[in-house]
Amino acid sequence: MIIITYLYDINRQFRSLFFGSGILSILNCLIAFALELPFLPEFYLLSALVFVFSGCFASLHSFVLFYLLSFSVTMCQSLLTVYVLGDDCGIQLYLLALLVPVHYIRMTDHSKAFQNCFIIGVSCACIAGYLISDEIIDDFLHPLGYIDQFSELFFTFKNVVGSLTLLVYVGNTFARGYQKEFQRLADRSSSFEVKAQHDVLTGLKNRRGAESVLTRMYQEWKYTRIPFTVAIGDIDNFKQVNDRYGHEAGDMVLVDLSRLAQGKLPGNAMICRWGGEEFLFAIPGKLEQTCFYLEEIRKTVENHPFLYEGSLCRVTITIGAAQSCQGDSPQELIRKADQQMYEGKRAGRNQLVYGDSERKGKKQNEKDGSALGVSGGPE
Ligand code: GH3
Ligand code: MG
Ligand code: MG
Repeated sequence: MIIITYLYDINRQFRSLFFGSGILSILNCLIAFALELPFLPEFYLLSALVFVFSGCFASLHSFVLFYLLSFSVTMCQSLLTVYVLGDDCGIQLYLLALLVPVHYIRMTDHSKAFQNCFIIGVSCACIAGYLISDEIIDDFLHPLGYIDQFSELFFTFKNVVGSLTLLVYVGNTFARGYQKEFQRLADRSSSFEVKAQHDVLTGLKNRRGAESVLTRMYQEWKYTRIPFTVAIGDIDNFKQVNDRYGHEAGDMVLVDLSRLAQGKLPGNAMICRWGGEEFLFAIPGKLEQTCFYLEEIRKTVENHPFLYEGSLCRVTITIGAAQSCQGDSPQELIRKADQQMYEGKRAGRNQLVYGDSERKGKKQNEKDGSALGVSGGPE
């Protein structure tokens, strides 16, 4: 797709170049006709037809053919006009204007060696043609036609302006074409990057997207020492939801739950779909503060009637949380949050568990081996 748009653009530039040359040749034809110069009106008319023909049919696939055709016509124009009028008419400048579009060959699929030879060969021929028509012809031949000084000035002016405008136009379209293409590629790659970081079903960040946010939060923590909380939430008995209501209902629950949880979090927090029915939350702030949001999420999920095709389905979520305090890496925090979440599962599900495992262990011992409570204390 990229290549097609790109080729279309280049072909368009390439054609407009021929049409521009065609218009300039028609102007030269009219001037030569008005000045009653020999050979030139017919030749310019023929050149204009060749350029217009090339403008209609040229494409990058036939670049070499059409470039050589326009090169031959321009070379003949230059030699013939200098032969008729002398070297002051400025026509030979069109040969120099041809030095830029020769580089379009880089966009064709010819071999590198061929491209290099073509550019060098054509450039040498253009420069040689320019020198021959500018210096040599004049020294050996007397111009055939004579025109008054004003007409010569006008003709020269038109040719200098025409050839240099052509040169500027080609250089500009060439650069603009590249600029547009680079922009398009940059946009595409950033939209791929966004897609690669998001979950298709829920629209939340996926694991990859979350990792970059966690790394950023961790770097911020290093400088500011303002803690952040990482939590993992896992829907309870989700397999049964799928078995009972169907996979589509399960998907709907995931989407609805994402929306509900997002609505309960502060704007600077992040929620991501960490795995199948697992969510990761990263909330700036101490556990004592952030647990409020996590508990809100747990309660909202518990009380929300998830409806799918008329069936009411209730789900709960178990959340484990850990806080960045002793320089734990994001991976370490996730591991701790995961541990807490599994403790919550073991303790009966539908709960928020936080606090370090050591303290929990003590609590458990104090309770003489009884199951863990609904929540731990803040660190
Ligand atoms: P637990 O309370 O221990 O977490 O039990 P569970 O059933 O939730 O856990 P388990 O790991 O046994 O099952 C997870 C289920 O989540 C299995 C899988 O079919 C379901 N699941 C994972 N991803 C998706 C999804 O994208 N859509 C749906 N509908 N189900 C999913
Ligand atoms: Mg799970
Ligand atoms: Mg589960």
